[in-house]
Amino acid sequence: MASLIPVGDGPNARCKLCGKTAVGPCARCKAAVCGDCCELTEGGATTFAICLSCVKRGGSTLAPAWLGLLGWLALVVLPLAAVAVALRLLLRH
Ligand SMILES: [Zn+2]
Ligand SMILES: [Zn+2]
Repeated sequence: MASLIPVGDGPNARCKLCGKTAVGPCARCKAAVCGDCCELTEGGATTFAICLSCVKRGGSTLAPAWLGLLGWLALVVLPLAAVAVALRLLLRH
């Protein structure tokens, strides 16, 4: 269990892939990566950096995460909307 490079989120965080000084965290796995080991991808108004291992695993897009969030929101919002519509119909009588 000898670790040569201390792992941390300090200013001198190391890229998890090549060990160079990291420039930022991966948008998916939050691991620190350097500019050479990440791919920039458009995510709405913001540009995300995704490490190459995440790119290999799921492509350089955040779509699955966004779809998951949308699905979760739909699960919460749809029943509420149904209740609101039902109340409106009831109050009309
Ligand atoms: Zn790197
Ligand atoms: Zn990653």
